[in-house]
Amino acid sequence: MKPAAFRYHAPKTVDEAVALLAEFAAEDGRVLAGGQSLVPTMAFRLAKPAHLVDINGVAELERLAVEGDKLCIGACVRHAAFHSPVCDGPLGQLLTDVVRHIAHYPIRNRGTFCGSLAHADPASEWCLLLVALDGEVLAKNAGGERVIAARDFFKGIMTTALRDDELLVEARLPLLPADTSCGFYEFNRRAGDFALAAALGCYRVEAGLIVEPRLAIGGAEVNPRRIGEAERALLGAAPGDTAFRAAAVAATAAIDPMEDITNSAEFRRDLVLAVTRRALERAAA
Ligand SMILES: Cc1cc2nc3c(=O)[nH]c(=O)nc-3n(C[C@H](O)[C@H](O)[C@H](O)COP(=O)(O)OP(=O)(O)OC[C@H]3O[C@@H](n4cnc5c(N)ncnc54)[C@H](O)[C@@H]3O)c2cc1C
Repeated sequence: MKPAAFRYHAPKTVDEAVALLAEFAAEDGRVLAGGQSLVPTMAFRLAKPAHLVDINGVAELERLAVEGDKLCIGACVRHAAFHSPVCDGPLGQLLTDVVRHIAHYPIRNRGTFCGSLAHADPASEWCLLLVALDGEVLAKNAGGERVIAARDFFKGIMTTALRDDELLVEARLPLLPADTSCGFYEFNRRAGDFALAAALGCYRVEAGLIVEPRLAIGGAEVNPRRIGEAERALLGAAPGDTAFRAAAVAATAAIDPMEDITNSAEFRRDLVLAVTRRALERAAA
């Protein structure tokens, strides 16, 4: 299949890009980033945007920088940028651990971190990471800009708080204290497939006990989210099998798993048990 006809626009600045979106969003004008999700859906004619605003020529969107206590990831930063650490400390390492689970090398060379957030696949690793770390995104349209917290950004399967005429300019992740332990684990049937369930856990240890626990699940529900019940099971416990099992059981009880023709809700619930424990074991390793 070939895509339906569309008009192609190639802005050189963010201001030009948002001006184009202001003009064409109402006619299903869309941002083209890495194209790794949008182009296949166009080829199958599941999407027929009348206008594509290609942001790949906007140099300012290639920004990847630490600013204060945050890592800022511009809209044209590719997944592959994270193959080696982009910042010091646990965050840089965590990003290298997570990125290798995203699709395959050629897709990682082209697809973007922010494109994954805007696309909001329930199983997206970057969406899970943004939620787990309480990151935020900067969105801009012709009328101004706003910052959207991760917890307010995802609104359902492939649905976000972004307005049709808004460009996701950058994502921001908090740098993690040097003594943060992080672990990520996902399950899929074939390497490179989207995860059927994934977990990301982080914590620090003070006087032998877990403090500041974070435990988020992706792929199991319509959007990734932090699971407070699991975090409470970790808080104040000694890191180890007993605490990790308790957190996994709590996560399993808390989620409302999606079902599809090959994966029952019960199966996904079992997967959540396994991925949560394994993510926490990786954090402790
Ligand atoms: C075979 C295959 C396997 C894959 N496996 C995985 C996987 O395991 N995990 C995973 O997370 N992803 C996976 N992907 C998807 C891939 O990661 C995409 O790169 C990503 O989902 C979208 O990023 P993109 O830059 O390619 O966005 P595009 O395809 O260009 O855009 C996707 C959508 O987001 C919108 N958009 C993009 N950028 C912006 C922006 N800055 N502001 C506003 N809207 C924007 C577009 O308009 C479009 O609607 C896979 C893709 C393929 C083809």
